[in-house]
Amino acid sequence: NTEAPDDASIAAAARLKPIAEIAAEAGVPDDALEPHGRHQAKIDVNRLGAGGPAGAVVLVSGMSPTPAGEGKSTVTVGLGDALAAAGHRTMIALREPSLGPVFGMKGGATGGGFAQVVPMGSINLHFTADFHAITSANNLLAAMVDNHIHHGNGLGIDPASITFKRVLDVNDRALRRIRLDSGARRETGFDITAASEVMAVLCLARDMPDLKARLGRITVGFTRTGLPVTAGDLEAGGAMAMLLRDAFKPNLVQTIAGTPALVHGGPFANIAHGCNSAIATNTARRLADVVVTEAGFGADLGAEKYLDIKARAADCPPTAVVLVATVRALKMHGGRAKDELAAEDPAAVAAGLPNLARHVDNVRRYGYQPVVAVNRFGADTREELAVVERFCAENGVRCAVTEVHERGADGGAELARHVAALLEETPSFRPLYPRDADVEEQLGAIVRTVYGGDGVEFAPEAREQLDRIRAHGWERLPVCIAKTQYSFSDDPARLGAPTGFTVRVRELVPKTGAGFIVALTGTVMTMPGLPAVPAAERMDVHDDGTVTGLF
Ligand code: ADP
Repeated sequence: NTEAPDDASIAAAARLKPIAEIAAEAGVPDDALEPHGRHQAKIDVNRLGAGGPAGAVVLVSGMSPTPAGEGKSTVTVGLGDALAAAGHRTMIALREPSLGPVFGMKGGATGGGFAQVVPMGSINLHFTADFHAITSANNLLAAMVDNHIHHGNGLGIDPASITFKRVLDVNDRALRRIRLDSGARRETGFDITAASEVMAVLCLARDMPDLKARLGRITVGFTRTGLPVTAGDLEAGGAMAMLLRDAFKPNLVQTIAGTPALVHGGPFANIAHGCNSAIATNTARRLADVVVTEAGFGADLGAEKYLDIKARAADCPPTAVVLVATVRALKMHGGRAKDELAAEDPAAVAAGLPNLARHVDNVRRYGYQPVVAVNRFGADTREELAVVERFCAENGVRCAVTEVHERGADGGAELARHVAALLEETPSFRPLYPRDADVEEQLGAIVRTVYGGDGVEFAPEAREQLDRIRAHGWERLPVCIAKTQYSFSDDPARLGAPTGFTVRVRELVPKTGAGFIVALTGTVMTMPGLPAVPAAERMDVHDDGTVTGLF
């Protein structure tokens, strides 16, 4: 039987080093390490030394994915291992998994095969309780809003204007709309924790004072006279920051190969800004020469937001960009149905290339020459892979077929060589829009340049919100677009490289703590639902505590 072992069995067979050993090798002093069990620790960044020059960032993003995922996390981890094996002082920075997708479609988010961060059972489940802390801080503020109204509403909050919702880390469509039976007896709903503004704040804050200031600036709604009401007005910021005190510290773990990894913060790329915390990225840069980090979903979402929002907010622009592509995703963009992707079809692979080409062009617009990492799956044939290699050769794009899933660091050696070559160069990072661009201009630039569409349409409600955003002087905050990850357009069915579409903005929600404006498009949900057959149905824990079904 030649069936490949599953992710959980590979992870279970890995020999993990004590976390203190990983920390010592990574240059984390003993008194900065706060172990959570044997293989996980938090880092108190205030106790780190000054460090040398900041390490270079390698940003891993991808083409528009299939619902199964194209292996960006897997390639991020495998590339980190391969760079470490080649002698680079490397650290990986990844976002934390959310329980929504773990029990829904994806089943886990710690990489796969021989390219995983471990202990995967723990990282995928409660880990160091950061999501719990974020959920608690968010819901404390929500409770204080309704409590304020219950006790006389001294601030004069208009209940109908409250935008701040409760959150829970679960895919549960039944919670999208709820009616409160107290205070203003208003309609509201739950978002998933990954969509919470508190998550975004934790992921963008530079340090504790910045975290506190951002929490205080969160707008919960408006007074009857139209003035914004903030968490600071409700005196909630201090207690929220206190709840986040430990969650704000990056989590140190290791890969199967023993490369150090910071796994911290978990906003989704389709409904939030989609990358691990700025504090983790910048801590990794203090400790290592090369930091490999992931920007979720397609580069139109994850990389756009990394480059236009995070890189500027946290001063961490990448030096190199990797685009993960797969033969199966190319076939899907080339017109094959989801259940036909296993059959050999080089023509469909070729027909899907315009999707990859648009992502390559986009990365070039930001000033980078990307490396295409073709994440090889068992069913891919030589001929299909050659189609992608030929396309890259003809277009002057660096390309490496990677087999990190099957072979770990060895399978990523060629990709690591390409990335190392790029790290010798000095790219000139050009964000898509200037910092003083109005939100409408920003939306237009992203839709026309990155998505390839004709422009933006605003629903009447979004128009009103835009007026309000301008009246409060928030129109120069960067825009964070919530959009389907499957298409460049706002319609998940339009695969490939669609043109001739407009993107309809349903709502514009100012997130004044995070410091961006969320633009909701299409039917993107900030509280996802579970699929007909949730991944949860295949999961179990044995008497000895080992888990199965997490992959
Ligand atoms: P993404 O980060 O793009 O969502 P992941 O890295 O989480 O994708 O991978 C999604 C799933 O696909 C995981 O279960 C992983 O083990 C599996 N996977 C990734 N790459 C390969 C590969 N080359 N061969 C087989 N399975 C893979």
